[in-house]
Amino acid sequence: MKLMHVFTSDKPNFATGYTYTNYMSEMEPKTMNLNQVFQMSGMDKGLMDIAEKVQVGERITEAEGLLLFEKGELGFVGALANHIAEQLHNNRVYFNRNFHIEPTNVCVFTCNFCSYSRQYKHRDDGWELTMEQMLDIVRKYDGQPVTEAHIVGGVHPKMNLEFFCELLGRIKEIRPDLHLKGFTAVELEYMFRKGKVSIEEGLRKMRDAGLQSLPGGGAEIFAQEVRDVICADKVDGAGWLHIHETAHNLGMHSNATMLYGHVETFAHRVDHMSQLRSLQDKTGGFNCFIPLKFRNANNDMSHIKESTIIEDLRLYAIARIFMDNFRNLKAYWPMLGRQTAQLTLSYGVNDLDGTIDDTTKIYSMAGSEEQTPSLSTEELCDLISSVGKIPVERDTLYNHIHVYEAVQ
Ligand code: SF4
Repeated sequence: MKLMHVFTSDKPNFATGYTYTNYMSEMEPKTMNLNQVFQMSGMDKGLMDIAEKVQVGERITEAEGLLLFEKGELGFVGALANHIAEQLHNNRVYFNRNFHIEPTNVCVFTCNFCSYSRQYKHRDDGWELTMEQMLDIVRKYDGQPVTEAHIVGGVHPKMNLEFFCELLGRIKEIRPDLHLKGFTAVELEYMFRKGKVSIEEGLRKMRDAGLQSLPGGGAEIFAQEVRDVICADKVDGAGWLHIHETAHNLGMHSNATMLYGHVETFAHRVDHMSQLRSLQDKTGGFNCFIPLKFRNANNDMSHIKESTIIEDLRLYAIARIFMDNFRNLKAYWPMLGRQTAQLTLSYGVNDLDGTIDDTTKIYSMAGSEEQTPSLSTEELCDLISSVGKIPVERDTLYNHIHVYEAVQ
């Protein structure tokens, strides 16, 4: 297979001014050597304690998570995160072949960071797909080796539980082999509340109709004082966690996200990750953790500057260190851009999501570099192998479909 570096030239990166050579020579973390890592800690006692814990596989505390955000230099957290990822995944990086169905961007909620939704009274500016239009998207993949359909969208007041159960059942009739991952806790909470069913009853109905996993969206930052500013009117943190716990107890898996880089503090991030870590201890039902970068185009929070790439990489690395019971840490490339996503592979990330095939508008509408997000399997493999990792195609539950060992 021909290799393709995403950095095809030494043209400076749009956000940092760094060239590929700069990144690889100056930013790539060193392999774990405790003495070197201690040097990188600046001999700070707290950071050295964290390095020792990572070395022996011991969990770090919330206070230590906060210390990493406050004092952990990129090279230091990167070395620790890289060490953990290598222990867990032996240099392998996952992706899958998937596509999205976005039924609508009409939404009853008014999250200030959202660039995607349209209010019901302005629905003519948005889209509302019919059942047949959504089934046509599925039929488009007839004979193609996709393994997952990812279904998320706005919260439309007239698309209800029965409508989506019918959709799930009809997709399964067309492609029984597809894993159906769909509906954020925000969509589900509204749908079940309107349908006057309990969370458990609603999830059972959807599971019986064909739903197998939940995506991680809607978590944002759990702390209510942050939600009051960025997403005051949708399900709260406790509600999000309850829906995922109930799904896990019903035998379903799910993902978890954190929207970072807006008004939250380091303490809010640690609190958010700690609540996810506690639920994972209880159920073991999360497949992966996906930090999502706030993008500031076309929304009511455009005055807030986006996080730098250094801060993005630091966050991924700290998430890898803190979330010790999440095997998989995903960089969602349509949101981060493929260049930064590639860099995260040296900072604890072991999953790049999927081929997508230009079927999502959520982050292109928020100003992502990826305006038509689509990567072929070959492009994804090249992106992974060109930084010395082994690409592995997975299914939704991280079973291996194909290991591209031969790629050099
Ligand atoms: S983030 Fe989701 S719930 Fe919030 S306004 Fe956008 S589509 Fe609606």
